[in-house]
Amino acid sequence: MTKTGFVYHPDFLKHNTGVGHPECPERLIHVIKKIRDSELGDLLINLDFEPATRDIIKLVHPENYIDKVQHSCKEGLHYLDSDTVVCLESYKIALLAVGGIIEACKNVSSGKLTNAFCAVRPPGHHAEPLRSMGFCLFSNIAIAARWLQKNTDVERVCIIDWDVHHGNGSQAAFREDPSVLYISVHQHPLYPGTGLGGEIGEGEGEGFTLNIPLPAGSNDMDYQRVFDEYIVPAVRKFKPDFLLVSAGFDAHASDPLASMNVTESGFKMMTEYVKVLASDLCDNRLVSVLEGGYNLEVLSSSVHDHIQSLIK
Ligand SMILES: [Zn+2]
Repeated sequence: MTKTGFVYHPDFLKHNTGVGHPECPERLIHVIKKIRDSELGDLLINLDFEPATRDIIKLVHPENYIDKVQHSCKEGLHYLDSDTVVCLESYKIALLAVGGIIEACKNVSSGKLTNAFCAVRPPGHHAEPLRSMGFCLFSNIAIAARWLQKNTDVERVCIIDWDVHHGNGSQAAFREDPSVLYISVHQHPLYPGTGLGGEIGEGEGEGFTLNIPLPAGSNDMDYQRVFDEYIVPAVRKFKPDFLLVSAGFDAHASDPLASMNVTESGFKMMTEYVKVLASDLCDNRLVSVLEGGYNLEVLSSSVHDHIQSLIK
């Protein structure tokens, strides 16, 4: 039987981004209500976790960047960069988000759990080693990949990022690293503007970054084609020990920040693909981490359907 872990902490709601910001606490309030009201509430295994230590964050970010985020949050509610808002609590909550993802990775890598979903905020895939960006403070999933490599038998990690925006931060962390395959399918042109097909990694990492930019209006069938033609063959060739998913749900047709036409069924289909890959290549080991998704209704139904597929 599949044992699916679930990472959530009410403190994630204390990351206050001010009035009218799309990356708001209500996102998680809706997700949690949808899940707890559904059949999934009793099936998921809730994980307890602590904030990540500075040493864990240092797997990707240098000490002076961590200091900068910490000190900046002490100033209270303000913009850290043109998009990313922090408040007094944000530093601690960003550490807690990473801590939750690490706990999921610990349990899945040891086989205690089959897979896990992490309902965290702030998101992570835009945060580069040296700068915050796009609502993200720390590069959550990149830190998780590094943690797995350092603390478990996992050597080769594949990150599949289907958030509608390109994960420039995750890409930057592994640009020259052949031990982490970073794959992103995203709308282009769109924020942050990176993620062209020619960005394939550099030096030893050349060939270990795969970007699949898609035009606005792409739908479930287009995403299915991308999985069949590009993502599945690349992952099978790489043979990862562990799969991480940057699960954004902002490619949904009703999302206010992008212009794709994906439906809940599309996210279910993508979940099935990554589950099969994890089963065939990684002993099922898969951890999925929430990134974007800004229409509260369809975010919660998409997350529900994603988890329903994970748990099956
Ligand atoms: Zn996004």
